[in-house]
Amino acid sequence: PGIRRRQMVVGNWKMNGSKQENTHLLAEVMHSWVPLTQVDVAICPPFVYLPQVADTLQGSGIVWGGQSINPNATGAFTGEVSARMLSDFDAAYVIVGHNERRRLRGESDQYVAEQFLAAQREGLIPILCVGESEEAREAGHALDAITAQLSVVIEKAGIGAFANAVVAYEPIWAVGTGKSATPQEAEQVHKHIRQLFGDLGSQLTLLYGGSVKVHNAAELFALEDIDGALLGGASLDAKEFLAICRCA
Ligand code: PGA
Repeated sequence: PGIRRRQMVVGNWKMNGSKQENTHLLAEVMHSWVPLTQVDVAICPPFVYLPQVADTLQGSGIVWGGQSINPNATGAFTGEVSARMLSDFDAAYVIVGHNERRRLRGESDQYVAEQFLAAQREGLIPILCVGESEEAREAGHALDAITAQLSVVIEKAGIGAFANAVVAYEPIWAVGTGKSATPQEAEQVHKHIRQLFGDLGSQLTLLYGGSVKVHNAAELFALEDIDGALLGGASLDAKEFLAICRCA
């Protein structure tokens, strides 16, 4: 108790934007952006827009990252992008294990663990997403589901690796649905995750994601075990995005 970890807000644009829309969105963000000393802010655009985002945000204090990676270094992996390629564009972070990738692309816990390791090998900070399905929550198995997802990565990377990682708790039923977890639900899971990490738990950067908007950000951020948010929809609106950053 009493520990005030750095706060963090990450915008995941998902498969949204165009050169023109991004120009407008980024200009609006930069126009009202005031660097926040206690908050790390990052934007994760689709790969093709990484140079555009990097060029615009360079020197602003907002950093950027990818939404996924292929864990291999190079080679015959058509359509894939490696951690080194993201580093080449000075990305700081990469999201791994987002539930949309797990569901739509069949990414397993093992594969996510490989992505986590590949990111760290190239100096990127992985933002590891975990979260239970609606069925698991209703059956009372939310904490078990999250433990299972995290255990595979902990086993492969070691607990110590999480000193250089971010974990995002994103209940699947809350992502893009407008139905956020209640502060109590989120806090319970965050506390549980910290406990899984033993001594490192109190230092871990732990985000909540799933329908975070300006109206519920402050009460989530006020909770002891929540260090910030992973935003989807809210990151596509400059005013909302900045207002949430200011709540952190
Ligand atoms: P949402 O998405 O904020 O639109 O619910 C969150 C996420 O997928 O990271």
